Amino acid sequence: MTDLTALKSDALHLVDTLSPQLISISHQIHANPELAFEEHKSAATLADAAEAAGLAVTRAAYGQDTAFSADFGAASGPRIGILSEYDALPGIGHACGHNIIAAIGLGTSLALHGLGARLPGGVRYLGTPAEERGCGKELMARHGAFDGLDAAMMLHPAGINAKATRTMCISEVRATFHGRSAHAAVYPEGGRNALDAATIAYIAIGQLRQHMTNTSKVHGIMEKGGLAPNIVPDHTRLSYFIRALNAPELDALRKRVENCFQAGALATGCELELTWSEADYLDMKVNLSLADTYEAHARTLGREFIPYDILPLGGTDMSNVSHRLPVLHPLIACAPSNVMIHDPAFAKWAGSESGDQAIIDGTKALVMTALDFLGDENLRHRARSEFEATAAQSATAIALAFNPSGAHGAAGCGCC
Ligand SMILES: [Zn+2]
Ligand SMILES: [Zn+2]
Repeated sequence: MTDLTALKSDALHLVDTLSPQLISISHQIHANPELAFEEHKSAATLADAAEAAGLAVTRAAYGQDTAFSADFGAASGPRIGILSEYDALPGIGHACGHNIIAAIGLGTSLALHGLGARLPGGVRYLGTPAEERGCGKELMARHGAFDGLDAAMMLHPAGINAKATRTMCISEVRATFHGRSAHAAVYPEGGRNALDAATIAYIAIGQLRQHMTNTSKVHGIMEKGGLAPNIVPDHTRLSYFIRALNAPELDALRKRVENCFQAGALATGCELELTWSEADYLDMKVNLSLADTYEAHARTLGREFIPYDILPLGGTDMSNVSHRLPVLHPLIACAPSNVMIHDPAFAKWAGSESGDQAIIDGTKALVMTALDFLGDENLRHRARSEFEATAAQSATAIALAFNPSGAHGAAGCGCC
């Protein structure tokens, strides 16, 4: 039988040895923020480091130019995915701290790899781009990135420590109205007003809000509204996010929102062009067997936790993975509790000494959790049973999350 205690102790020493390199890589990615689908340097930095440590890396993996993967360990037996995210936000850099996620994923994978033949299973280290928009993990899943895995694990930085993350489903839509231009004073009867169409749709969605479930949210902006007051607008565009607790609720709400857009077009004689995102973000299916194991390990490192179920509902494409296999997605503190992710101030914390400490603690807690999962059949069984209890709902959610005719990369902002 595998001596897990000795393995963990050796792996933790490996993390200590790796720490300066992990912190350096985190700072490198932090100083060069790259947006979703454009993370070429960040992906190369991580893939180069993995390769230098002896991992066989596949670049541009699972259909994404800025993804990578590296499988190692036993060919049979349990296999886990360890994930690194690394995309940044427009204008505010690494205000979601994905440089920390990147370093923790790399550190965990290198420490597990360092155990050599003593590793009680297999690992797939995955570089997963486009979390902030585009729902990259859903796109990678469709190319088989999570096939053959028994669990997938990552950590996200935050202002608090929590064993899991709560999220909602998100779909994005762009509604473009095509009307007909005319002089607004001389020949208004010749025009078809695309701004009126957008206004009617905007108001209709406002009226809809009163009759939605109180857990659903719809919010949007006008991206284009016309050129000049004396020209009847012939082209306007609205952009909306639609959120609901689960995929069936999202699907039903999507149809009602679509009717509001249609109303604007019908009333004004304009044409409506609707573009839904290619992939929706799903709700997180929390696996408490994994989450409790992680929390117990992180507490031994001095981390204090708050209950995850009082946290506000966010969004992440890791939720899409959670409907395919048991997933671990805890939060690790690197900032004061009043500094939220996507606040420009969070970017500073993500590159600070407490960000560096989160990398060391997070990597250690994740390594121990991964070893427990690979080496403890009882934990694997509990995690699987918990997942299977809602497998039917997950199959429905996965089917609803993908829209083959949707726009690539147009999906909502994953973390907010
Ligand atoms: Zn994030
Ligand atoms: Zn984010």
